[in-house]
Amino acid sequence: MTDIATNIESVKAALTAALENAGRTAGGTRLVAVSKTRSVPEIQAAIEAGQKIFGENRVQEALAKWPALKAAHPGTELHLIGSLQTNKTRQALDLFDVIQTLDRPKLARAIRKEIDRRAQGAATPRLYIQVNTGEETQKGGVSPADLPALLTLCRSELGLKIAGLMCIPPAGEDAASHFAMLAELAEKSNLTSLSMGMSADYELAAAMGATDVRVGTSIFGPRQTAN
Ligand SMILES: *Cc1c(COP(=O)(O)O)cnc(C)c1O
Repeated sequence: MTDIATNIESVKAALTAALENAGRTAGGTRLVAVSKTRSVPEIQAAIEAGQKIFGENRVQEALAKWPALKAAHPGTELHLIGSLQTNKTRQALDLFDVIQTLDRPKLARAIRKEIDRRAQGAATPRLYIQVNTGEETQKGGVSPADLPALLTLCRSELGLKIAGLMCIPPAGEDAASHFAMLAELAEKSNLTSLSMGMSADYELAAAMGATDVRVGTSIFGPRQTAN
């Protein structure tokens, strides 16, 4: 098995160096360990190495692994980083602490409805809007042009607090221009959280203002399945 603890230490060290070189505050970027396709023992190894924040991209897979892991390790934080179907909204709100992939009015309304159904004061996940900065048809995310309307719907009509933005740049393109676009959109919208950067480019993302980087391969090794 890949030495997960060693990898976590290396990624953390690289993040710290990137922040320092960019003149950003130490600890200004959270490391989200992307545990999609990974087994429970692999995830436990990361938790034992001190990792507290994890990301999964499928609700169904997360439901199979995480209720027991969370019960055994209170204080672990789980982010949804894959697209959310409205019929899984309830399960997602029950399991995830952060939903990074709010990207359309229908989903915003479903989240509002589900929050209303819950006991007052029940914990609700922090919400990020996913922006399709490359305007790729097959990819989730609101287009940059439609972001303002979605934000207004969330904030004014639905009373949903939005914490930040997330993007996945197109494969093979220079990520920097997408990170810059996301940072600019966030600034214009008064949003402070920025989820950007994966194994290949998390140091660049951190230098450009990421508050959350989503790292899978550099922690757990190559994935067996395309996912
Ligand atoms: C899989 C995935 C990651 C992690 O990718 P790596 O290249 O393995 O670090 C990050 N973000 C999202 C949305 C993902 O689906």
